[in-house]
Formats: sequence, structure tokens, C-alpha cells
Amino acid sequence: MGLADQNRFINAAALFETALDPDELLETLLGIEKSFGRVRTIKWGPRTLDLDILYYGNRRVASPRLTIPHPLMHERLFVLVPLVEIDPCWVHPVLGLSVEEMLDRLAGTDHGQEIEKVDI
Ligand code: AMP
Repeated sequence: MGLADQNRFINAAALFETALDPDELLETLLGIEKSFGRVRTIKWGPRTLDLDILYYGNRRVASPRLTIPHPLMHERLFVLVPLVEIDPCWVHPVLGLSVEEMLDRLAGTDHGQEIEKVDI
């Protein structure tokens, strides 16, 4: 999505418990991205590692640094396809739709996104 003329890349989703609050979690993820040598160049262009917070329980966060749930998660097959495998019943606190329902809706539209499932 975004810049189409780039190498293939892998998307994955992880579900975990944390004692960090959302801001601390973001700081931690940015630190991990940095430790993988990420340099921000072209928006939506190739990168070493991109870690996003999709959601944080039922919390909503809208600050200049952080939006939770992630504002584009429901429009991205590469988010919903891996996520439905691990947390299909989580309900989006703004849209009122489960992950499964968001995926059904997106899969039924002409979204122009191509993904391929791979085992890693
Ligand atoms: P990007 O690398 O293009 O995904 O943008 C990362 C920046 O987006 C971070 O530095 C955050 O300040 C901001 N951001 C806003 N909401 C989120 C979110 N839910 N997860 C990760 N980053 C976010």
C-alpha cells in the first residue's frame, strides 16, 4: 500500500500484555525500530522495521503523537489478515465491529490490495 514500486515485505501481528502505558509502549517500539537501524526516508516507502500499535484493549487515545486504535487498521488487509488469526473477536471501540467483521467488509470491497499468505 502507498508506494507500490518497492520490494516485497512481510507483515505480522502480535498480541501481548504490557505494564507500559500507551505512551511508554510507543517509546519502547520506537526504540526497537531504531535498534534495527531504521532510517525514515520516503513516507510509506521501504523500511527495515515498522512497529505500530493497532489497539490497546478498549482504550481510545487521540494525542498529537498517538492515535489508538490505529486510524487505518480497518482499511488494511495486511493488518486484518494476520490479526484475525490471533484476535478475531476484539471489537473496535469506535466502529463497533469485530476484527472478523472488519475483514469481511474490506474483503468484500474493491480495495486494490494484494497480499499473499506465507509461513515464516
Ligand atoms: P510511521 O513510522 O509512519 O508508522 O509513523 C510513526 C509515528 O506515528 C510515531 O512516531 C507516532 O508518533 C505516530 N503514531 C500515531 N499513532 C500511532 C500508533 N497507533 N502506532 C504507532 N505510531 C503511531
